[in-house]
Amino acid sequence: MPKIIVKNLQKKFGDLEVLKDINLEVEEGEVVCVIGPSGSGKSTMLRCLNGLEVATSGSIVVDGHEITDPKVDIDLVRRNIGMVFQQFNLFPFMTVKKNVTFAPVKLGLMSQEEADKKADELLDRVGMLDKADAYPRQLSGGQQQRVAIARALEMNPDVMLFDEPTSALDPEMVGEVLRVMEKLASEGMTMVVVTHEMGFAKQVSDRTIFIDGGVVVEEGPPEEVFNHPKNERTQNFLNMVL
Ligand code: ADP
Ligand code: MG
Repeated sequence: MPKIIVKNLQKKFGDLEVLKDINLEVEEGEVVCVIGPSGSGKSTMLRCLNGLEVATSGSIVVDGHEITDPKVDIDLVRRNIGMVFQQFNLFPFMTVKKNVTFAPVKLGLMSQEEADKKADELLDRVGMLDKADAYPRQLSGGQQQRVAIARALEMNPDVMLFDEPTSALDPEMVGEVLRVMEKLASEGMTMVVVTHEMGFAKQVSDRTIFIDGGVVVEEGPPEEVFNHPKNERTQNFLNMVL
């Protein structure tokens, strides 16, 4: 059974129909990159996947839980879905380590000791262990984003969602964040990544999806989508960004 199943997803904000009819399946361990013009609904789709936005119609099943069922305990489902945002969103008044351990301890999922141990492992994995006692403002954007990834992983998610994780970074810091993501992908994490990093999409994704106007216009292996786009809208978009 696929990890994520999206059927006929529609999302409206008032009269504005942002997502028209999105259909998508993501297999366990698959890395799907989502590309498309600004305003095409990429963030809205990602936010629907973890219940930050409520779908207007259609169904979303993540790891066997139907997010679109009004009776679902969305907080419980969301624990299983890590999300990384463009703007890091670290808690400014907590140290790096506290940022990572706060949620699972507060929710009673881990003792402070267990959370600390896991945080050390994860901070080491993202190359941030030496900054465990620093505060976010003392870190570069790339460092903050690596901490944000460690924080998401601390909850042992089954799925990781990334919304343009490198778009707010200075160019010299993009690589360090992409390398952490690439490693995560190679370790078998199921990932949906909205990105403008076409090189990353080409090299790391198993499948690339092009969204425009609230629909999936084209999808396929990245070599197909990038080298032989079938749809004219995909061709035009790629001509502008590549
Ligand atoms: P993308 O991530 O592809 O740039 P978004 O999903 O952020 O696109 O936005 C798609 C469209 O939905 C835009 O026109 C945006 O203005 C609109 N939109 C997004 N969030 C809201 C909201 N909370 N209320 C009203 N309109 C929104
Ligand atoms: Mg967006």
